[in-house]
Order: sequence, then structure tokens, then C-alpha cells
Amino acid sequence: MQELLTPTFRLAVSQFDQAAEAMHLDSNLRERLKLPQRSLAVSLPVLMDDGHVEVFTGYRVQHDSSRGPSKGGVRYHPDVNLGEVAALAMWMTWKCALAGLPYGGAKGGVQVAPKRLSSGELQRLTRRYVAEIFPLIGPDKDVPAPDVGTDAQVMAWMMDTYSQQVGYAVPGVVTGKPLCLGGSLGREEATGRGVVYVTLEALRHLKLSLENATVAIQGFGNVGSHTARIMQQQGARVVAVSDVHGGIYNEKGLDIVRLLRRDLDQPLHETKQGDRITNEELLQLECTVLVPAALSEQITDRNANSLKCRILSEGANGPTTLEADRILADKGIFVIPDILANSGGVIVSYFEWVQDLQRFFWSATDIQNRLQAIITSAFHRTLHFSTEHQVSMRMAALMSGIDQVAQAHLQRGLYP
Ligand code: GLU
Repeated sequence: MQELLTPTFRLAVSQFDQAAEAMHLDSNLRERLKLPQRSLAVSLPVLMDDGHVEVFTGYRVQHDSSRGPSKGGVRYHPDVNLGEVAALAMWMTWKCALAGLPYGGAKGGVQVAPKRLSSGELQRLTRRYVAEIFPLIGPDKDVPAPDVGTDAQVMAWMMDTYSQQVGYAVPGVVTGKPLCLGGSLGREEATGRGVVYVTLEALRHLKLSLENATVAIQGFGNVGSHTARIMQQQGARVVAVSDVHGGIYNEKGLDIVRLLRRDLDQPLHETKQGDRITNEELLQLECTVLVPAALSEQITDRNANSLKCRILSEGANGPTTLEADRILADKGIFVIPDILANSGGVIVSYFEWVQDLQRFFWSATDIQNRLQAIITSAFHRTLHFSTEHQVSMRMAALMSGIDQVAQAHLQRGLYP
């Protein structure tokens, strides 16, 4: 229990407490939903290329499975800890329920800097991780996916390790796989595409035109880069992007396609497309839409007052602290909360899982249309709830998600 109490876990629980209070949630359920259903910590001995064995720590946390198998990514990052993984698992529960997906929430993680490992080391680490969490996962139990620091190749190794254990190919055990292994068209860009779809709805709601909109994006990984590319395709002006090393700003707009074509090791500012800025400066830029698409707790009571965006579209999980939320509300910034804004990833993961189970694959157009339909409807339900009950968009999203889960628990009853 003590190990859970990290800042990110406290943030997730405080958000939950606030929503539970506002909706007068049954007190028995409240106690249960604050904690994960199951948590597993594993030690992963890995043979390194130089011949020594290094032991990494990993986790898999399932927050809830009342509405179906649990679902959520696996994060490879040096700062991974049990509290963070448990917080992310809880957010997955509300995210899946809000989008109406038949899943509970889970998350996994390994404390590692993946870029420092060779491909062989990364593969051995991944296979050992899957072997250790094997009893917990499966297409009907818990379905991992990519998150920060993992990608389709890592998912392929996970699928293979699981399949080797059972003796036949099980594509439905993970999502975000390469296409040749039962991956889905549109999965890689799905989170970014979802961020764009809900942002377009928010612009329309606030009667702002897309052509005059400027967009700043913190983070140029999977979520940030696809958000930038699709935003630009749609006609918005992307004025700033950044990665861990810092970012670039150009008032006239950046050429995202050219940025994506650069050598991946080249720092963004060396492309000479704009002025060099820090990550902190990016958050404080004057722009229509700000998309935090990196790690959690980036917008805090220290910088929230300096934000100058009209819309905050949360591509990352947990980028805004509770104190910052209050400041943003006072400033009248329209927040599209993470569990709504970044749900495109898990929505298309759901499509991938359905396709794998049915052995029947859909076209890219089917996927885009279905993603747009689900996420747009979740946006409007949240907006409606927020106006009707006079609560923030974050509270509306949380309360709607929590309500679905609470109903499932109450209908199923308590075992034994
Ligand atoms: N890691 C992503 C998220 O945080 C996707 C999870 C999934 O596809 O299961 O939503």
C-alpha cells in the first residue's frame, strides 16, 4: 500500500474522490475503486550483450474487470513505479467506460530506459516480462498495448512469447501489433487522430475557426507527432512542437512532414524551421490549442497561470494537477480531459481486438469513421453532462465513466 502513494497515484485518487463526492457514489464502492483489483511486481533478469545479468523491475496492475477484460498499455521508462502504473490503470478504467468499450482498466511498466538497450536486450527483457506476467494476461483476461517507450515490435515479441507458451498463435492477447500479425490499420496514429477529432469538436463548440487556429504540442513521440501531422492536414497551423531536448517555435507554422522526415537523432531545433524554445516556454505560448502529449504532471500550480491557450487538449495521461485544474477553470480555458482526448488509442485497440477475435479485418476508412463516431459521441455526451450538471469537462468525463463502472458492480453484486 505504501508503495502506491506516489504523486501520480495521489492525483488519480484525488480526481476520483472529487468525482465520487459530486455523484454521491456508494461508499462501499468508493473504497474498492480507489485501489487496484490486482497488482503484480516482477523481477526480470536479463542477459546483457556484455555477458552480465541485469535485473529490472516490472509491474502489471489491473484496476477493474467488472465490465470485461482489463486493457491498457505497457510503459518502458526509467521513472516507472507501482503508484504511477496503478494511477494509469485507474484512468484506463474510466477511459474505457466513457468510450463505451467492454473493458476494465490495466497498465504495465518496466523501469528501464529502452533507448539504452540493444535490440537483443530489449527483446529478452520483453519476453521475460511476458513470461512473468503470463498468468494475468490473455485475450479474455487482460490485453496489453503500447504506451510510452514501447511500440509494435515490442507487441510482436509479446504476442510471440504468449503464443509460444500456449502452443498456437494468439493475436488477440495484445494490441498495437504489426499488421502482419493481426494488427489493425490506423492503430499507430489512432491516439493522435482521436486528439484531433475531439479538438475539432471543441473548436466548433467555441465557434473558433480551424483555419485561424494555432496549435502547440509538447511531446513529439507517437501521440504528439501524429497529432501534429493530422492537425496540419486538417488545415490548422502548428506553431510549436517539442521533445525531451526542447522545441521549436515558428509563428508562421512548421512543416510537420519535413520534421518527421528528419534523421531521428537530429534535435528539432537543428532543422532550422523555427526559434529554439524550452518545454516550459512551449506550454506558455499564445495559441488556440495546447496539446500536452508527453508525461504526467506538466501543468501545475507553478505554470498554470501563465498558460495562454484557449483549449487544452490532453494527449498525455495525467498532464494537469488538481491545483492547476482550478486555475485553468478560473482562466476560462476549455479542457478536453485526458480520458476523453487520448481515448482514440484504446478505441482502435478495441477494433484490433475485435478483428483478431473474428479473424475478419476492416478497411482504413471503416476504422477512421468508427473512431470518429465513438470519440465524437463521447465528447458530446461529456459536454452535455458538463453543462447540465455545471461541472468541469474533467469531472463530467470522470463521473460518466465511474457511473458505468459503478452500475456494473452493483448489478453483479459482491462475491461471495
Ligand atoms: N497506452 C494507451 C493509453 O494510455 C493505449 C492503451 C490501449 O490501447 O490499450 O490509452
